Amino acid sequence: MSDAWVLAYHGLDPGQEGLREALCTLGNGVFATRGAAEEHDADGVSYPGTYAGGIYNQLASEVAGRVVINEDLVNLPSWLPLAARPADGDWLDPWRLEALDYSQELDMRSGVLLRRFRVRDGAGRITAIESRRLVSIDRPHLAAIEYRLVPEDWAGDLVVRSGLDGSVVNDGVARYRQLSNRHVEVLHRSPAAPEGIYLKVRTLQSHIEIAEAARTRLYRGDRPLAGERRILLDQPDRVSEEVRVAVRRGEELRVEKVVALHTSRDRGISEAGVAARQAIDRAPGFATLCARHSAEWARLWRRCDVEIDTDTDTGGEWAVSDQLVLRLHIFHLLQTASPRTIGRDVGIPARGLHGEAYRGHVFWDELFIQPFYTQRLPSLARSVILYRYHRLDAARELARQAGCAGAAFPWQSGSDGREVTQEVHLNPLSGRWDPDHSHLQRHVSSAIVYNVWRYFEATGDRQFLEGYGAEIMLEVARFWSSLARWNPDTGRYDISGVMGPDEYHEKMPGAEAGGLRNNAYTNVTAVWCLLRARDVLEEISHERRDELLDMLEIDGAELQRWDELSRLMTIAFHDGVISQFEGYEDLEELDWAAYQERYGDIARLDRILKAEGDSPDRYKVSKQADVVMLLHLFTDRELEGLLERLGYHFDPEAIRRSVEYYQQRTSHGSTLSKVVFTSAVHREDREEGYRLFLSALRSDLFDVQGGTTPEGVHLGAMAGTVDIVTRHHAGLELDRDCVCMWPDMPRRLRGLRFRFFHHGRWYAADLTRERLRLSIDHFGTDVPVRVQGRPYRLPPGGTLEVELEPAARARERGPVGPDEERRLRVDEDRLARSRE
Ligand code: BGC
Repeated sequence: MSDAWVLAYHGLDPGQEGLREALCTLGNGVFATRGAAEEHDADGVSYPGTYAGGIYNQLASEVAGRVVINEDLVNLPSWLPLAARPADGDWLDPWRLEALDYSQELDMRSGVLLRRFRVRDGAGRITAIESRRLVSIDRPHLAAIEYRLVPEDWAGDLVVRSGLDGSVVNDGVARYRQLSNRHVEVLHRSPAAPEGIYLKVRTLQSHIEIAEAARTRLYRGDRPLAGERRILLDQPDRVSEEVRVAVRRGEELRVEKVVALHTSRDRGISEAGVAARQAIDRAPGFATLCARHSAEWARLWRRCDVEIDTDTDTGGEWAVSDQLVLRLHIFHLLQTASPRTIGRDVGIPARGLHGEAYRGHVFWDELFIQPFYTQRLPSLARSVILYRYHRLDAARELARQAGCAGAAFPWQSGSDGREVTQEVHLNPLSGRWDPDHSHLQRHVSSAIVYNVWRYFEATGDRQFLEGYGAEIMLEVARFWSSLARWNPDTGRYDISGVMGPDEYHEKMPGAEAGGLRNNAYTNVTAVWCLLRARDVLEEISHERRDELLDMLEIDGAELQRWDELSRLMTIAFHDGVISQFEGYEDLEELDWAAYQERYGDIARLDRILKAEGDSPDRYKVSKQADVVMLLHLFTDRELEGLLERLGYHFDPEAIRRSVEYYQQRTSHGSTLSKVVFTSAVHREDREEGYRLFLSALRSDLFDVQGGTTPEGVHLGAMAGTVDIVTRHHAGLELDRDCVCMWPDMPRRLRGLRFRFFHHGRWYAADLTRERLRLSIDHFGTDVPVRVQGRPYRLPPGGTLEVELEPAARARERGPVGPDEERRLRVDEDRLARSRE
């Protein structure tokens, strides 16, 4: 299988720098720092942001004549500054001096960013520099840089400057520049005893303290160099240390900067400043830190890698190995939330810890992200759901504000679970601030329930369900129940005033108030939540069930209403397809060709139409999959079952028609959209599905939205691509009772290998198009599994090898019939008896 581990760039390219910085971000699940150069500060090209999960702050700003409050993931003091200069010369910055060559490599296997360059300064001297950087995934409060300099053709005195910069603001997204952006005040900057420098800041509203300490040592070979040192406090809000040493021609000088970052939200510390200073005092040198960091990455990769055997695409700028990109996605997922995140009160920001887009908020994207963790790091998946559980009271308050009972989670969530979706939204095309109704995406609550339930199905973690999950599920069911209104004209229940995942449609054309009626995605997922709320009451102990019903004051009448709703919710149809919402069929068709001709890229049709004084509300256009999203979450059979329960007949042919219908009307203005369409299309046409998958795979690497990736990666789409490979290509279904696999690999995919976790056991899958090898960790008894619908048993520590039928034939045949089922049950009985 391919050895695609290194993302490499050559030469300096100001137009690409933001993208490279986002993609070369290093993080450990606690904090992350963009892959910006050490040698200079934010300057319009480079943006050295550092962000830590859960460190938010609110600021008031005046926009469009009103005061709005925004909550942001705070750009923390930069720990990167490290540069050198000949004592009588300029800073050796490749962007400012003549760069003779420049390259940059992100080594994902070991989690190290390497930069190599040679510069010629004003006096014609050439110096070669190599920097290696890590954000330790082994010691989650430490980061380090090793900086090697070789004066190629000169000797003399050299000055090294190492700093901590607290003058930072949130300035990474041009659209937000009219908003207040200084989130921290500096409390303290000084030398750190016994060596190094120290900086402490505090966020202005949330009052979180962030302390950084840095230790900088110089070496010739292994020999430490004392040099002449001084601490600098001359630049506002910044502390630096300068060391002056003599360097010889051709001889390497090595600089090690080890940094500690603590915040007052960390566990197990007395005070952030003390913790940071102690940490650098005790930290080992770069080599040891790097070895332990890489060893932890090796362990993580063993568990989380997904190996694919494909051809490298040869199409010009797209020439990149699919394996490399898939790894890049896994790498950034693990840098945003890793085992080091477990137990911290954080959700997963949609754009990672990689930039400031969407202000570091947590959206429904966790729906796409969570399967990755549930299958590989289940304790982390649990921890991420707890972020929501701890904000259940805030969700109850949001439901109350909407005039409902139960709990409604916010569309965008930050520090304390209140709704942090902006009220006005800047359209960069028109320069106008338009109202933003997206908080009406109530479906986010269903996404949270979906994650709770799928986590339970995959892990069997009943304790979690009893302690936390069930309460979330019941409260959300209750919210849906109280939002739905009986419609005497149709004899069904309606849900109004909501938006679906497709954010282009905010309201009916011409309507004053935001929101739509009977968005199919919202209604179907609400029904699904109501049914799972019923199931969860069967699943938990009677003791806990009675406690919860009593505590939440849920009575028999309420449960009956849930049942009725699950049979009588409204779904609208037109032209033989599910309508995105009621009234959709009356909207106008858009002349796509004309817009394409006029604007080229029309992914953000909403902005184009609004800038023209028009509105996407008027047209049959979607930003992203909405109805089709149902096919991403549910199998055909599940979806048919849900609709049939509601009294609608819906056959697979109609599902196919719906996919085609909406595909022709979707601009894919969100990177999530291609992932979802891949799911839907793969069912019918796996080669076409693979084409869509490849385009989802490339969205961040090539910044296909033309400028969004530099502001932060799209973690939902990244995780979505991994999910497509495991769920569709390998056909993995983690059922309540057993692991099922329906492999269906496209032609270009020759092989596939990954590990996953199910009900306390680790499995390893190794597939070609013709056969599957499935192994299991050593464990007490035989374990039943199903491959292409046939039952098999995996002995403890054993491997099962199955010759695969062509996928289409297996699917047509379906799960094996009752005879074979019976044989399996008899085997199980025999096994149970022999155990007794
Ligand atoms: C998408 C949302 C998504 C958000 C954050 C938006 O562009 O439309 O579905 O949750 O980005 O990724």
